[in-house]
Order: sequence, then structure tokens, then C-alpha cells
Amino acid sequence: MINKTIPLRKCVACGQMVPKDELYRVVRTEDGIQLDLTYKAQGRGAYVCRKMECIQLADKKKSFNRSLRCPVSQEVIDSLYAEFKNDR
Ligand SMILES: [Zn+2]
Repeated sequence: MINKTIPLRKCVACGQMVPKDELYRVVRTEDGIQLDLTYKAQGRGAYVCRKMECIQLADKKKSFNRSLRCPVSQEVIDSLYAEFKNDR
């Protein structure tokens, strides 16, 4: 049996290590900051759980700004909320 492990990433909001596919990835690229739904974009990434509490917490605490070391626009945060709603 092949044991395929999903890499764990740290959520910027709750600080838990969570399997990658249960997180949203936000990536800082040369073109700016964007939501990376493919997990393949090159650049510095930050992750948040696919949970409303974590998205809200990351929003409130500006966790992405800290993790990516640059300002993250509200537009990016809003796209997380939008994506979360799409997932339901
Ligand atoms: Zn979380």
C-alpha cells in the first residue's frame, strides 16, 4: 500500500499544522499578492484553514501581512471569503 502523505502547512490564523488541501494558499508573486487555488504559483506562500473563523481571524489580525512581510489588500481577503462561500 502506498502511503501518500499530504504535506502539512501552518495556518496563519490558528497556528495549527493542517494538511495542505484543507487550506487556502495566498501567494506573493512578482505581480502582487493573490489567492492561489492551484498551490503551484511561484513565490512566498501563506496558508489559512478553509474555515470562516480562521479567515476572519487572519483578516482581523492581519496575519497575512505578517506572514508575507508586505501589505495584503482587502481585495485578497475578500477573495478568500468569496472562495469559502463557493466551497459550500
Ligand atoms: Zn486555522
